[in-house]
Amino acid sequence: MKLLFELSRPGRGQELLPACDVPEFAFDADLLRQTPPRLPEISEVDLERHYTQLAKRTHGVNDGFYPLGSCTMKYNPHIDEEMAALDGFTRIHPLQDEASVQGCLEVIYCTEQLLNEITGMDAVSFQPAAGAHGEYTGLMLIRAYHQSRNDLKRCKIIVPDSAHGTNPASAAMAGFTVVSVPSNAEGGVDLDALRAAVGEDTAGLMLTNPNTLGLFDPNILEITRIVHEAGGLNYYDGANLNAVMGRARPGDMGFDCVHVNLHKTFSTPHGGGGPGSGPVGCKAFLEKFLPEPRVKREEDGAYRFFSPENSIGKVRSFYGNFLVVVRALTYITVLGKEGIPEASGTAVLNANYLMHKLQGQYDVAYDTTCMHEFVLTLEKLKQQTGVSALDVAKRLLDFGMHPPTMYFPLIVHEALMLEPTETESRETLDWAAQVFLDVLEEAKTQPEKLHGAPHDCPISRPDEVGAARNPVLRYAFE
Ligand SMILES: *Cc1c(COP(=O)(O)O)cnc(C)c1O
Repeated sequence: MKLLFELSRPGRGQELLPACDVPEFAFDADLLRQTPPRLPEISEVDLERHYTQLAKRTHGVNDGFYPLGSCTMKYNPHIDEEMAALDGFTRIHPLQDEASVQGCLEVIYCTEQLLNEITGMDAVSFQPAAGAHGEYTGLMLIRAYHQSRNDLKRCKIIVPDSAHGTNPASAAMAGFTVVSVPSNAEGGVDLDALRAAVGEDTAGLMLTNPNTLGLFDPNILEITRIVHEAGGLNYYDGANLNAVMGRARPGDMGFDCVHVNLHKTFSTPHGGGGPGSGPVGCKAFLEKFLPEPRVKREEDGAYRFFSPENSIGKVRSFYGNFLVVVRALTYITVLGKEGIPEASGTAVLNANYLMHKLQGQYDVAYDTTCMHEFVLTLEKLKQQTGVSALDVAKRLLDFGMHPPTMYFPLIVHEALMLEPTETESRETLDWAAQVFLDVLEEAKTQPEKLHGAPHDCPISRPDEVGAARNPVLRYAFE
């Protein structure tokens, strides 16, 4: 496909800009460039076609099945977009007077109440812009708590090896030492290892629940008790709240602090890199450390910003990604008290349905009832046929399916992690299962076909590491 610079023809499409109708400003000569920028010159229709062709090469939930584990690529209802597009929410300025944006403050306030109810926490900050950012913020609360009690030796965060990769990364970013505890044979936290790991230097535990194996830890109450008794706090990675919302609350499981990913569970399209929102909730005793500003409701019904007493400060400019909060409020209120648990129930049912269709043919890493996702291990297949998880993932692309998450979690070899979500129909799940089984058959009969996959995509196997480490973002003119 040609780039805009290659489609460019001198003089074409340049007349689109109207003549300047404001006084010209004279910049200092040394601030001015010597040669005009080499912008592509192209007609409107060719520009339109260029971007439409690019858009056709992407794959989103609106194109087809997208079982990317740990990412909750569910369909986001249109009404949430419509609400977030209302003028009253979009045509405002962050520095506007509070009195002129009362409705927006009410959105933040109401969403906080609802998230408190869903997570079992007492207060929420909407500052963090993503899940990992929420983790970092929550850990800063934990640090502020220990510091406020002059308990300065607590420098270690315990992270089970089935945690999401962002957990140890956030703990390290927040200045803690990470202590990893292994999983037991059932895929849960090894309690003896946890007991051995806690001590006077334990700042807290970060737990992803359900974990990255798609399993809910049945020892959850014992786990949080062990940490509390050692003087640490419990942090809940609630990015995967889609599996439990409306049914079980981190606050009731002994957690002091939690983040949720509004852009996964509460209806904001993601995958293109944002904007997201990773609000952090906490119990009352941590509330005074939350980032500022927060919103309160005065007795006269007016909404005001305020700064918590011992706030850790700001972790982002202004009020977080506000329009993501609007979508979340719409989503939660449309589904309501019955719809929220129904959504999580269907998410879990769909994952188990798909897992059962593949079981016996594919090896499931932990052969038990799963939550919102499950993990396959293709280790044996690779030994027998030479076909790897990567080969299978690439081959799925030819069938118009986005591949599952690959090679994650790290504790499973040749892993494929599938999360179908609640918004897929039984027909789609049946179709997906059939594609998986067909690809497995191919792996056994024509492995070469899989090594060369995908065959029908514009790009086959790009150098992903090279693309990430040495991205070419500028056009090299001859
Ligand atoms: C997605 C995810 C995160 C990170 O969220 P981002 O918004 O991508 O930073 C953290 N933990 C879990 C369990 C996740 O699934």
